[in-house]
Parts: sequence; structure tokens; C-alpha cells
Amino acid sequence: MESAAGGGEGGFRASEHQHSRYNPLRDEWVLVSAHRVKRPWHGQLEKPPPEDVPRWDPKNPLCPGATRANGEVNPNYEGTFVFPNDFPALQPDAPEPDDSGHPLFQAAAARGVCKIFENKGAMMGCSNPHPHCQVWASSFLPNEARLEERTQRQHHSQHGVPMLLEYAEQEAQRKERLVVENEDWLVVVPYWATWPFQTLLLPRRHVLRLRDLCDSERNSLASIMRRLLIKYDNLFQVSFPYSMGWHGAPTGPHLQEDCGHWQLHAHYYPPLLRSATVRKFMVGYEMLAQAQRDLTPEQAAERLRALPEVHYKLKPQKTV
Ligand code: ZN
Repeated sequence: MESAAGGGEGGFRASEHQHSRYNPLRDEWVLVSAHRVKRPWHGQLEKPPPEDVPRWDPKNPLCPGATRANGEVNPNYEGTFVFPNDFPALQPDAPEPDDSGHPLFQAAAARGVCKIFENKGAMMGCSNPHPHCQVWASSFLPNEARLEERTQRQHHSQHGVPMLLEYAEQEAQRKERLVVENEDWLVVVPYWATWPFQTLLLPRRHVLRLRDLCDSERNSLASIMRRLLIKYDNLFQVSFPYSMGWHGAPTGPHLQEDCGHWQLHAHYYPPLLRSATVRKFMVGYEMLAQAQRDLTPEQAAERLRALPEVHYKLKPQKTV
């Protein structure tokens, strides 16, 4: 049997013929219409991100030694600095909503903590150029995690193996969607990718949560993330915007449950499509019916794979 990426018996070519692909993690389909990428673009152009952001800006509230909005002064940190978000979307002490008495108007208590992953670049709604991320811990399983909980559990009960462990093994063999790999990790443009250069970062062994990684896996993780991010920046020679996040097995009461169906993974969702200024919009058919992409995941992976692993801003050394 031919994969959707290859040439089938009926002359099917994924790079030319529109088709749908199934995303087993979200239980949804994406329409792949690779021929559309050739069409002329008359849509919105984005401003490229600023090139020369200072490494230290005393007016930036996330920088070492700077004063934050609540008046607290950051220590002169040299490594990772974690602090509660000054404007958290979740707080630990929210009251219980009243029962509306009707199933179409349901509300539930939402409690949690926010500490400053989210995104990089103004195009992804990032409000601060300083590299930062956010840890959200909530009293409920948010939608994305709830969906992945259901699909991974279902896959495990049907096939007896964690979905993303099996998927990583398959992609390591097939190679056509591989972007970078090392002894512990691999990065692919997933078979079911929706965003043009979306990637999925997967461990090779079964890992439930970030804290289950050993020292060498942390080091190889830092290395593969660096290689991927250099390729992203090199793609359009710009500081590449994206939204990135980790999904691991739930904690709290779920710690007592068997979470063997879970596999730790990270998603990268970059919005850029064909240059530093043309981004992908999820509107119209995509909002009302189904997501659609303009180049195949194999084409996106091939482009990323072919890019150098030296950052475009680092000039090559002159050899004597
Ligand atoms: Zn996920």
C-alpha cells in the first residue's frame, strides 16, 4: 500500500492532488491542497519582526534587575527565573459559579496558577520580546489536553501501545517528514500538520512527563531544540515567530491513575507561510468547516531539513 505522500496506483501524488489526512491526536481531518501555494498573494503582509532587540533592556519588566508592573524588582538572574504572572488568567481562589439549571448553559469552577511557553513574536500575540514562557496549572483538564487524553487512551486500549510512541517509531523509519533527530529525540512535520511549518517534538522512548527525563535526555533536548530553532530562523531569514508548548501526562488526582497511554511531546505552531511577511490565516472555510494547508507536510519537512544548522546571522569564519 502506498502512503498518502507517495504515488498511488491511480496516479495520486500528494504534492499535486488534494486530499484529506486524519489527525489521530485531535480526532479531526485536515484538507491538503498543495497546488494552492502557487497562487498569487494579494492578502495582508505582516511587518517583519524587529531585528535588533537589545540583549538587556532595563525598561523591559522581564529582564534581570528590572521592576515589574506590581513593583517587584527581579533578581539579577543568570539562568531560568520563575515567578507568578503579574496578570494571571487563573487564580487559586476563584468561587464556584451558580448552577444555571439548563444543560446548554454550563459553567464550572476554574482555579489554577500561572507563572510566566507560550509564544515568540508579535505575530503570535506575544507582548514582550524577552524570551519567556508560561506554566499554567489548573484544577481542570483544558480542552487540548482533554482531547489528547481521550484519543491516546482510546488508541492504547485498541492497539496496546502509546499512540505517539508508535508514531515516532514509524516516522523514524519513513523519514520523509523528519526535520532533525538525535539519539533521544526526533522532530517531524506531522503527517496531519495544519500550520505550514508546524512540527512535533517527540522522545524516542516512552516518557510521561518532563520531570521523568534523565540528565542526558535534557541535554539532547536542548541540542535538538537549538537545531530546530536555527532552521526556523534560517527559513525566511527572520526571527521566526511561533507558539510552542509541552503536553505531558496529567498530574494531581491523575497521578494515581494509569497514564501509560500518554507520551510527552511538544508542539510548535508557526504562522508564517511563504516569507517573513506572509502568514497563514485560519478563516472562512477553516473556521466554519475544516482546516486546510497549502503545501504538503513532506514538502515542508524537506525545506526545513535542507536548511543549514548555522544561524544566518553568524557569518562564516574566514579560512586562511
Ligand atoms: Zn499535544
